[in-house]
Amino acid sequence: MSNIDDLLIEKEIIQKDVRDMKNVENKNKLLEEIDKIDKTIIKLCDHDIITDYIDTMFPYREGIMIQYCKNCEISKKLIDLNK
Ligand SMILES: [Zn+2]
Repeated sequence: MSNIDDLLIEKEIIQKDVRDMKNVENKNKLLEEIDKIDKTIIKLCDHDIITDYIDTMFPYREGIMIQYCKNCEISKKLIDLNK
């Protein structure tokens, strides 16, 4: 049985493959795979949502609010969509 840590490692490996890959068709297959892993993680994780701010580029300098789970690093938006 896989736990969240295993899934996160698997996801990281696939994401690296996606970055290295030039074949678009294979890339889409891997992205689907990541999507499946995300959905499984969303179900398994006891989410702990934190709020963070990212600074935008000059000249606006406004912080953009992002919310994500500090355990699985998936955005709150995606978590809410898959609940
Ligand atoms: Zn989580």
